[in-house]
Amino acid sequence: MIKLDPPYDLRSVARENQFLPVVYDMGGFLVILLTGKIGWIDMTPPHSWKEETDPRIIRMAQYTASEKYSELSSLKPMRPENAIECKTCEGEGKIDHPSNAYACYCGGLGWLLPGE
Ligand SMILES: [Zn+2]
Repeated sequence: MIKLDPPYDLRSVARENQFLPVVYDMGGFLVILLTGKIGWIDMTPPHSWKEETDPRIIRMAQYTASEKYSELSSLKPMRPENAIECKTCEGEGKIDHPSNAYACYCGGLGWLLPGE
């Protein structure tokens, strides 16, 4: 007999750890805590937390959250004047891929800051 892991209950994990999942990645979630902090939570117990410090990843989380949850639409990052068009997606924010599961390097915004 094959023994499978029990189904993953994301709602309980999110409630217990007080976060809103934004992006799923291998082994964890990019989340926004109820405190407003953005970071990573491991999928497996004890669901360790690591605050994100990369401004590009933080913008991706804010943008994705603003698209996913209408109540958070104000989180959408504003494009600064010195922003440059993302060469990967040519400013579209999306990568042409059959799975449609891969986010562009720019996180969907279509722009990056100089040096990113
Ligand atoms: Zn892009």
